[in-house]
Amino acid sequence: MRVILLGPPGAGKGTQAKYIVDHFGIPQISTGDMLRTAVKAGTDLGLRVQDIMTSGGLVSDKIIVELVRERIALPDCANGFLFDGFPRTIPQAKAMLAAEVDIEFIIEISVSDDEVVARLGGRRVHEGSGRIYHVIHNPPEIEGLDDQTGERLIQREDDQENTIRKRLKVYRQQTKPLVAFYQGITSEGSGKAPCFVSVEGTGALDFVQHQIREVLLR
Ligand code: ADP
Ligand code: ADP
Repeated sequence: MRVILLGPPGAGKGTQAKYIVDHFGIPQISTGDMLRTAVKAGTDLGLRVQDIMTSGGLVSDKIIVELVRERIALPDCANGFLFDGFPRTIPQAKAMLAAEVDIEFIIEISVSDDEVVARLGGRRVHEGSGRIYHVIHNPPEIEGLDDQTGERLIQREDDQENTIRKRLKVYRQQTKPLVAFYQGITSEGSGKAPCFVSVEGTGALDFVQHQIREVLLR
């Protein structure tokens, strides 16, 4: 099963990805997590991308496509994978088509800008695992600490209101057009056309999860 989770920053992609990964046994490929790992480790890649990430811009398509190509060639992707935060531009989506990576499901999680700002302001993450919390909507058992390791949670540097607004703008300009792009492919009616579904992302985590499960079990 090959799935893309699409949606603005803060839509709940990472949160829902964890559920899909556990339930359907496919690896989560989060380009954001991969890049943050590289930044933290201080690799060449990390040094090249850290400023653009902090500012809320997008990393170049060339870097991202290479990263993803290498990742999906690994054996754990043989039975599928879940893209979380990729593709984010039309050239990234086209690169996957060119590489004949057939996607079965594209699920757009839709939420309003105000909801995004409220969510990302309260987002806390466990750096080591990428586990995601929210101070009100999805709090850890002990405030400020990861449920599994007990390590301190952090607030991402790009989750400041100004940067969030910039990321939303970037989303509208560069990522949202993917909705029409994939709907266009779907309506062409070719045998390999993916199934595109938009789900309502506002509401309880379980409600969103339920809608996604209904799509993936079709
Ligand atoms: P969020 O979970 O808030 O949507 P991500 O963790 O997916 O954010 O991404 C964080 C940052 O990493 C982005 O703002 C961007 O700078 C970079 N990034 C992640 N994925 C991509 C991608 N597919 N293309 C370009 N830049 C990316
Ligand atoms: P994305 O990966 O799309 O950027 P996340 O999964 O990191 O989004 O979620 C952003 C923030 O919103 C996190 O703090 C998360 O706990 C919270 N969140 C996710 N889904 C919901 C929901 N349905 N209702 C309220 N808060 C949510």
